[in-house]
Amino acid sequence: MEEIGNLSVRELRGVGPKLAEKLAQYGVNDLEDLLFHLPLRYQDRTRITPIAALREGVDVVIEGEIRAADTVFGRRRSLVARIQDGTGTVTLRFFHFSAAQKNNLRTGTLLRCFGQVRRGASGLEMYHPEYRTLQDAGEPVDETLTPIYPTTEGIGQNQWRNLCSQALTYLRRAQVAELLPPDNAFTYELAAALQYLHAPPPDASLEQMREGQHPAQLRLALEELVAHNLSLYRLRQLQQKDGAPELPPKPQEQASFLDSLPFTPTSAQRRVLAEISADLSRPLPMLRLVQGDVGSGKTLVAAGAALQALANGYQVALMAPTEILAEQHWQNFHAWFEPMGISMEWLSGRTKGAKRASALGRIASGEAGLVIGTHALFQDDVVFAKLGLVIVDEQHRFGVHQRLSLTEKSALGTGRPHQLVMTATPIPRTLSMVAYADLDCSIIDELPPGRQPVGTVLIDASRRDEVVDRVAAACARGRQAYWVCTLIEESDALQAQAAEATAEELRTALPELNIALIHGRMKAADKEQVMAAFKAGDIALLVATTVIEVGVDVSNASLMIIENPERLGLAQLHQLRGRVGRGAAASHCVLLYQSPLSSNGKQRLGAMRESNDGFYIAEKDLELRGPGEVLGTRQTGLMEFRVASLPAHDHLLEAVHTVSDRVRSECPDRIDAIIRRWTGTREQFARV
Ligand code: ADP
Ligand code: MG
Repeated sequence: MEEIGNLSVRELRGVGPKLAEKLAQYGVNDLEDLLFHLPLRYQDRTRITPIAALREGVDVVIEGEIRAADTVFGRRRSLVARIQDGTGTVTLRFFHFSAAQKNNLRTGTLLRCFGQVRRGASGLEMYHPEYRTLQDAGEPVDETLTPIYPTTEGIGQNQWRNLCSQALTYLRRAQVAELLPPDNAFTYELAAALQYLHAPPPDASLEQMREGQHPAQLRLALEELVAHNLSLYRLRQLQQKDGAPELPPKPQEQASFLDSLPFTPTSAQRRVLAEISADLSRPLPMLRLVQGDVGSGKTLVAAGAALQALANGYQVALMAPTEILAEQHWQNFHAWFEPMGISMEWLSGRTKGAKRASALGRIASGEAGLVIGTHALFQDDVVFAKLGLVIVDEQHRFGVHQRLSLTEKSALGTGRPHQLVMTATPIPRTLSMVAYADLDCSIIDELPPGRQPVGTVLIDASRRDEVVDRVAAACARGRQAYWVCTLIEESDALQAQAAEATAEELRTALPELNIALIHGRMKAADKEQVMAAFKAGDIALLVATTVIEVGVDVSNASLMIIENPERLGLAQLHQLRGRVGRGAAASHCVLLYQSPLSSNGKQRLGAMRESNDGFYIAEKDLELRGPGEVLGTRQTGLMEFRVASLPAHDHLLEAVHTVSDRVRSECPDRIDAIIRRWTGTREQFARV
């Protein structure tokens, strides 16, 4: 039988060169591509619901006669039509309407409408339903559930439906290649699964389909996750092919470093350090993810890894997501490594002119051993003499490609540098199995001794004055506090303004306190000065934007107020809260929320109150916000699957690994085809 992948979309009725070109922009060139353009969701237009049976919030088809139609002038002008079907009446309401529409909706006309039922001014109503006029009652309804396809511009829903239903008819005489090894536990053949998802029968459970749990969806989700897994695996292999410098342990240097610390590493830190040390000793590039809760001491682990590479005569690049965090790393590493005679260099987006030229020179000559900075380290003109290790302190912000582009700055002649990725907060296990399948994982599952959990309370913003009094009382007892302002706007400028206004207000309310302000728009030197003064205890209350989110470490600070916490994700809140609870004093976090809270907001803040465990909070975050938000990769498309979704398909992940292993051993020649099928022209992982 012919392969459906060999038939061009031009085969279909109505597809000329223009439409073919538009389809190509969606990665759709042949009929197989088209069949893998899968619906996002479905509507049930297979039944007419009696008006008496309408319930709020449900999408329905109704049919009835217009009994009255009128333009009403309330708060907003609207066109209103009352429809009756013998069981009851319901109101259709249009806020935007044309003269022609008004003309069409006349008393006595028979209408069929589709839309959502909601509660309006006159009881149950439908706002802007789709509708058409009927000649007679009893015209046929749709025979399948109606698929809604992902689309942006140029191709409408009806066009997608038409094309896909045409493509389905080709399944009778052409086959869609089964690429997975036979005999897996799935009840649906590939062709049957595609048929089902493009045209589900009227008795399909919308509920089950919505949750992605229909066996046909599971069959495809499995294949999609396998494709993703294989592509990450291939990436890993490509990286490993190049080899890496062998960097064996240097016990003397490492011992003298650990001896210089004011504390001893926890056993979890020791274990993870040993894992990294073993990786670095091998002639293959390390690809390792270190996960640990806020405050678990990831910096020390990074330092231990850096030292091993430096002691072997190689350079190390340490990259942080924000300038503040990079600066803090600079201070820590400088204090640790300067006495050991290690030369360091700084490079951020703000390093300009002669300073930058000198930095680039020292990096290129190998004079600089440890280079610390921000994204600026990625730039093309940054050339390393002998780069042995790249450490990325990630905060969920760097995509696979960015990670790769730094390892392309390879150590000359010795393959790729080793790579260590540290996450700011834990990532749910299932999510890291998918998003970081190309990395080995180490977990720091222990906090340094003496940490006390942060007591968290939720207080309504209407009680803000009480909270201000509480800050005054705490500071009077010598404690230090953070007041964190959040804004939805991504704009630094607006965030800065809001923080400035809050600082002014707090200075007026609390004239006796030394209050300082820090935000992303300040000059690096000014920020540094403020942080240093806060660290030294000269500032009692630090008003901040979320720039302090990551990494900032002041152990005497034991109170944090977060304004509008409902705007933030759980991982970010947990990360912020992790700024307190670092010293011996009992610490508190006040979530000063704006009511009313959405139910999702309530659950998120509730989870913060309940738990201080980053691993638990990460799972909750995934459940409440989904993987794109949790990984912070929504824009990069990294986790945008067609059918698969997490956590809905967590239960498939074991099978994903088994099937991927089988593909690699039984039919490695199909790997490319599987990856191509699911990533198409949008392939994100092939470029190495
Ligand atoms: P994170 O994992 O959030 O990056 P840090 O590396 O910033 O955590 O460490 C948090 C704080 O704990 C720092 O002040 C650090 O010096 C301290 N710390 C790290 N390891 C230990 C340890 N083994 N014992 C005591 N304190 C430690
Ligand atoms: Mg850190």
